[in-house]
Amino acid sequence: MILVMTTSHDRPVPRDPVTILRPRRGLTRFLETIGARWAGSTAVEELQDTIWRLREITERYRSAIEASGDVILRADANRRIVFANENFTATFGIAETGVLGRSLDRVITDLAVMPPPNLDPWLRSDHVSGALSDRELSTRDGPRWFMGREIEVAERLGDTAVIQVVLRDVTERHAMESELRRARDLAEAASAAKSRFLALASHEIRTPLNGILGMADLLLASGLTSEQATYARAVRTSGAALLSIVDDVLDLGKIEAGRLELQPDDASIEAVVEDVVELLAPRAQARGIELAGYVAADVPRRLIFDTVRLRQVLINLAGNGIKFTERGGVAINATLKARTKEHCVVTFDVTDTGIGIARQDAERIFTEYEQGENGTTRRYAGTGLGLAISRAIVRRMQGELEVQSEFGKGSTFAFSVLMPNPTYPEIVARSDPAELIGRHILIVSPAEIEPPLLVRRVHDFGGTALLVTNPSEARAALSARSYDAMLVDQTGVADAAETLVAIGLDQRPPAAVLVAPSDRGTLELMRHVGFSGYLVKPVRAQSIAKVIFALVEGRPIAADALDVRVPVAPRRLEGRKLKILVADDNPINVLLTRAMLESRGHRVTTAEDGRQAVDVFTAASSDMTFDVVLMDLHMPTLDGYVAIRAIRAANQSPRPLILALTADVTAETERATRAAGADGRLIKPIDADALDALLGEVPSAALRA
Ligand code: ADP
Repeated sequence: MILVMTTSHDRPVPRDPVTILRPRRGLTRFLETIGARWAGSTAVEELQDTIWRLREITERYRSAIEASGDVILRADANRRIVFANENFTATFGIAETGVLGRSLDRVITDLAVMPPPNLDPWLRSDHVSGALSDRELSTRDGPRWFMGREIEVAERLGDTAVIQVVLRDVTERHAMESELRRARDLAEAASAAKSRFLALASHEIRTPLNGILGMADLLLASGLTSEQATYARAVRTSGAALLSIVDDVLDLGKIEAGRLELQPDDASIEAVVEDVVELLAPRAQARGIELAGYVAADVPRRLIFDTVRLRQVLINLAGNGIKFTERGGVAINATLKARTKEHCVVTFDVTDTGIGIARQDAERIFTEYEQGENGTTRRYAGTGLGLAISRAIVRRMQGELEVQSEFGKGSTFAFSVLMPNPTYPEIVARSDPAELIGRHILIVSPAEIEPPLLVRRVHDFGGTALLVTNPSEARAALSARSYDAMLVDQTGVADAAETLVAIGLDQRPPAAVLVAPSDRGTLELMRHVGFSGYLVKPVRAQSIAKVIFALVEGRPIAADALDVRVPVAPRRLEGRKLKILVADDNPINVLLTRAMLESRGHRVTTAEDGRQAVDVFTAASSDMTFDVVLMDLHMPTLDGYVAIRAIRAANQSPRPLILALTADVTAETERATRAAGADGRLIKPIDADALDALLGEVPSAALRA
């Protein structure tokens, strides 16, 4: 039979039942012709059978739909209603006779709560996927939501297609969905509002803080009595603590908004680690615990990474370590995990011997505002932001920050990050391993954090080192073999002078004492006892080689190699007096910036807004031109960007250095200020060292002339 259809009609056999249900007129006529000609033949009987079977399927399908509770309407080719099921009457309170012969679209439009201009597209717009938006219709029980669907069905063989519309009541689903949508929209709006508020509030807080910190610095430099100095220092310390909280909150906002940008640059890991150790050492020493850092010798000297963000993570982790450790200390290690010529994977771990973290808290503490178990941690200050931010930064660096801890024994926070090699195809090794080749060093110390790291350093420089914990072990070691030099730790529990005396003159190699900065007062005594040098803890990698070398060769030890933590007095740039224009609308900031600059011998002119800045700048006579312009970005009448453009447009020669003054550390702002013509920016609150570094680059107009 199928063969007959195919050959006679030269068209593919329809395969899906719906198409079979809607035979074309041509085919019907053809079948009738065959029927007449082949009456009684088996082929036609088979055909009839097939048609009946298909009809039966359609009937079953139809009754299934009716039983489903859906409203069903049918219309003829002219879209006039020919049938409405019982559900229609039950739902809308309209008898079938009331709609027979009426326009399908009209009837539905009349039922709509908010009649759309044209309902037809609602029903027919998407036949293929059948996905239609819901409509609200007036029912006997009030307005309800319906999903509508229109299909064509065959009413009778040989007839044109009939339109069937199915309306399904989806009020419950609709209500649930719109509730969910509303909740989501609310949550999104609230979160966006919170982020905006945090960003705004933090910026607003930063500005007056800038004033507080700067003024405290000026006060401290102004010859106070010791009591006054104590108070001023307390103001400074509290201000600095507040600033770091504000920065955390700002960071969090940035992370939530997905705006945490990295600024990778060619830099030294060792410098970052030493920086962090140096910065936090006073805090550790004040708590009577150790802090030390170690960068393995095979970590290349320079790699590409974001120094500021790496430093921030290490400060967070080591700062926590110090906070949660009562005895022992904290070690920061950087080791090489893997390397190709182009890249290194460096692992950082920060280990402490503190209170540890209970297993059930180990994941939770990485969530913002979360702290460890409340009972214990309420004793420690904190906001619970540090780890959340650190983890986000590490993730941004494609790494993962994880913790391993034993409750009561200590914790290790570790992460590995991939860093490109800037000197590709070469690899520049970090340290010169030859310096201590063949040297044997004895280290005497009961401490557990720094001495083992010193041993590793000596090995890295090519020497060997033995670590012993007390004088009697030291004596035993010295009688077993000879040593080139000895380092003796002056700690709270062991007195270095006693140790040295106990060892005896005849046995002793040249010795240096390891002291905390607070032990400096004992150095004179140490020299009398027989120490020929000293190292201030935490010891810098380079200092140890220098001191050991000097010891071995009996050379005097250069003070700068050792005493790395002398507070730096503000540098006076003799003979480098610059003419500087400062534009800022905040009078306290102006006062502060002026004081900072004048204390360095520069000449300062100020402007209250961008307009004034441009006027003052252009009015300066040729022998009074400005070397430097410090421009606040947000000012009334003319903002900093416009003012910078205007000053650049004046094309003054020699070209002035223009620095934007901003609290905004984002790369966006950096790009925008550079686009406007600034040479760089100074982040508020202004850091004295950053200022000196930037101004150090400027040849003054007087010198250039
Ligand atoms: P904060 O220190 O400001 O509370 P963090 O996010 O840095 O916030 O730390 C969250 C919590 O994790 C801390 O409150 C503390 O309970 C726990 N924690 C972090 N570091 C350590 C550590 N080194 N030792 C023990 N507990 C820690």
